Amino acid sequence: MSTNKSLLILPGDGIGPEVMDQVVRVADWFGRERAVKFDLDDGICGGAALDAEGTAMPDAVMAKAKASDAVMFGAVGGPKWDANPFHLKPEQGLLRLRKELDLFANLRPALCFEALAEASSLKADLVSGLDIVIVRELTGGVYFGEPRGIETLADGSRKGVDTQLYTTPEIHRIARVAFELARKRRNLVHSSEKSNVMHTGVLWREEVTAVHEAEYADVELRHILSDNCAMQLVRAPKQFDVIVTDNLFGDMLSDVAAMLTGSLGMLPSASLGAEDPATGKRHALYEPVHGSAPDIAGQGVANPLACILSFAMALRYSFDLGDEADMLEAAVAGVLAKGLRTADLAQANTSRVSTAEMGDAVLRGLEQAAG
Ligand code: NAD
Repeated sequence: MSTNKSLLILPGDGIGPEVMDQVVRVADWFGRERAVKFDLDDGICGGAALDAEGTAMPDAVMAKAKASDAVMFGAVGGPKWDANPFHLKPEQGLLRLRKELDLFANLRPALCFEALAEASSLKADLVSGLDIVIVRELTGGVYFGEPRGIETLADGSRKGVDTQLYTTPEIHRIARVAFELARKRRNLVHSSEKSNVMHTGVLWREEVTAVHEAEYADVELRHILSDNCAMQLVRAPKQFDVIVTDNLFGDMLSDVAAMLTGSLGMLPSASLGAEDPATGKRHALYEPVHGSAPDIAGQGVANPLACILSFAMALRYSFDLGDEADMLEAAVAGVLAKGLRTADLAQANTSRVSTAEMGDAVLRGLEQAAG
């Protein structure tokens, strides 16, 4: 039975359109071969939208994003707009999307493909088989808390202030995302904060515990201080399944976890919004972690796998198509196992392929899996 799902494609700037082309090919394949029809629409954002319409996120595109089941976002930015004032930066497009879709939960998986275990900065046996997810609170905490700013004091010295602030509802909703996710995985959540030195850390620990006891007692919950969590991530990362943490610690821990698995060109991410009580649906945005890579844009050499793996996350989290997501991830693993690599991953004894050839290889992998 075909069920149409609306997906807004925002390729953006630089390599964004190049890698997104491969995602569209994959989405078309699922429509043709698996009767999973997507209603694809697209729009401009970032620098491309600044050039065309003078804003990084036109209202009409924002309206489409609000109306769609999920947004696939490429990357924005580039030297052309570097000197623009802050409100005319390409990144404002992404910030508006995050704000107006209320994307409070950022999911960053760290998945080590067997064929790339040797490329990690850690020993291969530490990362081989690694599959963890960091759930970072994205719209609260010290990056947003008031008061904030820099002021000059009476004696001429200056004072900088940021405020770390969390409320019960903010902690409850991010905790629920983590517990729900763990139930679909290995059923283990580590909640990470600094309750030894911060009041927000104490509140975080108490409130995560309360949500756990009331609603998710079937999931194993462990608490871990964020400094120890960083250390454990590079000492023995496979002890984790889902890590839930605040905006600041999540920023650091997700970058640490990302590098366990190698190249920027391999890292997907998802940002989820609040569940609509009437429909049960959430706004969601899926994007590769990398930027617009102006140094290689237009050359057809960018690695499309981070964007393709972000689409796999959309299949899993927005469309409840876990089997299709598994199939796509397995196709990516198969391509890597065959030794095909874009330039960013090239090693001795591997074959270098272009962006489009990597897309071709993933499609061939899907064809084979479909029999
Ligand atoms: P970047 O991620 O674009 O590139 C860093 C390095 O990694 C470059 O050498 C690039 O060639 C390489 N790289 C990145 N993605 C790759 C891929 N898929 N395949 C092969 N190589 C890849 O980061 P940057 O250079 O710091 O930023 C470039 C621009 O992107 C800036 O304008 C920045 O503001 C913007 N940016 C946007 C986002 C976003 O849209 N979410 C995120 C980060 C940076």
